[in-house]
Amino acid sequence: MTSKSNLGSLGHTTEETEFFTPVPPGYERGKTKYVVVFGTVMSGLGKGIFSSSLAKILQDKGLSVTPIKLEGYLNRDSGTLNPYRHGEVFVLDDGMECDMDLGTYERMLDQDLSHLNFTTSGQIFSDVLEKEREGRYLGRDVQMIPHVTGEVKLRLRELAMASQADVVFVEIGGTVGDVENAYFIEAVREMSFEEGPGSFCFVALTYIVEPKILGEQKSKPAQINLKMLNAAGIHPHIIACRASSPASKKVREKIAMFSSVPMDRVFSMHDCESVYVIPEMLRGAGIDAAVLELLELGGRSETGTEEKARAAWNDYIASLRARKHPLTIGVIGKYTSLRDSYASIIQALEHAGARCGGNVQLVWVDSAELTEANIAERLAGIHGVIVPGGFGVRGAEGKIACIKYARENKIPYLGLCYGMQLAVVEFARSRCGMPHANTTEIEPDCAEPVIDLLPEQMQIEGLGGNMRLGGFDVAVTPGTEFAAMNADAQRVRLRFRHRYEVNPDLVERIESAGLVFSGRCPDQPIMQVMELPKTAHPFFMATQAHPELTSRPQRPDPFFVGLVRAALVYSGLPQETLSKSAGALGTAPSSA
Ligand code: GLN
Repeated sequence: MTSKSNLGSLGHTTEETEFFTPVPPGYERGKTKYVVVFGTVMSGLGKGIFSSSLAKILQDKGLSVTPIKLEGYLNRDSGTLNPYRHGEVFVLDDGMECDMDLGTYERMLDQDLSHLNFTTSGQIFSDVLEKEREGRYLGRDVQMIPHVTGEVKLRLRELAMASQADVVFVEIGGTVGDVENAYFIEAVREMSFEEGPGSFCFVALTYIVEPKILGEQKSKPAQINLKMLNAAGIHPHIIACRASSPASKKVREKIAMFSSVPMDRVFSMHDCESVYVIPEMLRGAGIDAAVLELLELGGRSETGTEEKARAAWNDYIASLRARKHPLTIGVIGKYTSLRDSYASIIQALEHAGARCGGNVQLVWVDSAELTEANIAERLAGIHGVIVPGGFGVRGAEGKIACIKYARENKIPYLGLCYGMQLAVVEFARSRCGMPHANTTEIEPDCAEPVIDLLPEQMQIEGLGGNMRLGGFDVAVTPGTEFAAMNADAQRVRLRFRHRYEVNPDLVERIESAGLVFSGRCPDQPIMQVMELPKTAHPFFMATQAHPELTSRPQRPDPFFVGLVRAALVYSGLPQETLSKSAGALGTAPSSA
């Protein structure tokens, strides 16, 4: 394969050569193939969904795939981003805080990703500047090209080596034409030249407008933006047309004509009922075959795996379509005006609904508007309540009022992170004789601090990177509801993102009033799951973790399955109906 390369000696920076391409030791050119997805016309087209769906259909063929998202912003990670502006912060098992698209990849590919799958300009530039200080650029002036682009290429090759994937899927953030992403485009252009023909497949995701006043699809914005991609030196191999209805033949012909991409590689990617049907749509259109041919991958795909993977996936889609029992879940939050800030919760409820036959309707309740006086009215018609993760004072008392109401009225309740901390606060105030109980996040000098800073967090200053982050094992208390819903596993693995925890000094006092801590950190006094026994409440559970992040279509998270199941009963569905469909309602496998 090396002979195909357009470069002689890669990886060596010398006085004599203009090429600067750091290559990790042992990297074999041509072994890994790359699919790069660019966004054109505008953002928000579902580049991550498209890219992960395409990766999935290659994975179904027995190829190993891994994604990487290249983000243009200068933050090192997504940890300090406001979810209201950018969507939820997705946490990976190794603690990387990243863009919500990584969640889409994990769910679609059923794969745990790591920091290697997420790169920001902040990471790239800090690394370049650090290397400059170490004198690693041999006296050269450090430039966007080749040094910054070199760092991008290095990361792609490092991921190729670490993952040993057949195909690396590179998703370039933003839209062609954005200043901050331009160097990523240049980096993949350079790298496709270096790796040689048959190594890169460039896919442009574009958008077909359909103005109401015209009533027809127009391709001009797509044409103009595809020309900008050409100007950046990229000639796409495949064009996928996002549109609300299927992109017409006429429009696809125009796009083919103006971008010199053969008609059979211009695909429609129109709106559909669920993101999970997109892989099948792409397969039906033949994109997988086109990619295999372009990347000369035919020999590496396995026969037989595809049918099995398709059947399993189609089972999930069938169960989505078969959800027939309506139920309403209220999400009590702060950022309720932006659905993206709760993307994984929405997904986890969909997975659980598919498992239990429940057609979940979500009701968003702004906690800042909730009071003990209006709570009954606001929660009328709601069969289950989620208090999701959150930070700070705003709306906290509204959430506490809601938790109290759910506990007293036996409405199924699931608390996620902040939702567990506030449930403990509420329980302490109402049942443990601690009227002043609070979290020190809200009231630093609180007289009864039932939730307090984690000891290791007390020494750390600043907002970035000072949380307990990532996947940790949870020791399951035998005989509890938490144990039952995890098939009596001794340990499960969950993902965390918090600074505060239940005050260990008060655990005994709280438990003696009837609350059970059913999941604990194995080697530290950190309470990770709590519940009320079944005799006290049909479903009142909360966790310090974010189980929504690890729910997968075919492996719904047990907390969410438990909530949906209890909410169905609360909605009036007879218990017998639930147990009759035991297959669909059986305990979900542990997310460990
Ligand atoms: N604000 C709380 C903490 O820092 C909860 C965090 C969360 O809900 N993700 O511990």
